[in-house]
Amino acid sequence: MPPKRILILGGTAEARDLASRLVTDARYQIISSLAGRTRDPIMPEGFVRVGGFGGVDGLKSYLEEEDIDLVADATHPFAAGISGNAAAACAAANIPYVRLERPAWSPQAGDAWQSVSDVQSAARALPEGATALVTIGRQEIASFLERSGMRLVLRMIEPPEAELPPSSVLIAARPPFTLEEERETLEAHGITVLVTKNSGGEATAAKLAAAREADIPVIMIERPAKPEADTAADPDRMITLISQALE
Ligand code: NAP
Repeated sequence: MPPKRILILGGTAEARDLASRLVTDARYQIISSLAGRTRDPIMPEGFVRVGGFGGVDGLKSYLEEEDIDLVADATHPFAAGISGNAAAACAAANIPYVRLERPAWSPQAGDAWQSVSDVQSAARALPEGATALVTIGRQEIASFLERSGMRLVLRMIEPPEAELPPSSVLIAARPPFTLEEERETLEAHGITVLVTKNSGGEATAAKLAAAREADIPVIMIERPAKPEADTAADPDRMITLISQALE
């Protein structure tokens, strides 16, 4: 039997992990896809393509031209656009769509979380006079820059194009971060509130523990809805799900 062709929609550590495991499996041919947002991304193992497909129609054409048998969506929990497109394109091309989605974080004893539904609401929720550690992507900081009367400490992988207010601090850094590093960041900048997306996973969870220890409240941006799909919580279970979906 010819190998089944799998398109992994990536941009996450889990997607790279999945690709590394599947490339050695002779039953499959793997193509990983990246959006191309990060200038210097960590590349997955095996064949990689970069850039958008051009919406649902573009992705459907790609699936047909490349003879893809299954789409494994391992994008970030907040990348809702590509997941919606992928589910629709797979339905139109009549091939399975399965998703790898790391579990969301949930509050523990001692946490003071305020849940909000989007980035704009998070910016509005910041109290006057706050010193906020804002840990969201460079393309999403506009609503924070509109706020005045507070100090922003913005942490992201790459510096933003937008000009930052003189009172703000930019930390350009790539996860993972240890608990010790997070304690130091909160203390060094006198942080009074933490803003984060509910990304889940281990790589960026230490900031929540550090905030809990220091009694720092958290504005938690909850996840957008993704399409209904067979979903696995980690790469191991995803491999089983893929093999079942291709039976
Ligand atoms: P998005 O809003 O869901 O997608 C916007 C558009 O970007 C899509 O319509 C698609 O363009 C293109 N795209 C997204 N992911 C793609 C992929 N893996 N391969 C090819 N094209 C892709 O996505 P986003 O939130 O901007 O995230 C972009 C990428 O960064 C994703 O791959 C995601 O896994 C990763 N990422 C996102 C976050 C986050 O917080 N959002 C955090 C870490 C990593 P076309 O319509 O032209 O096909």
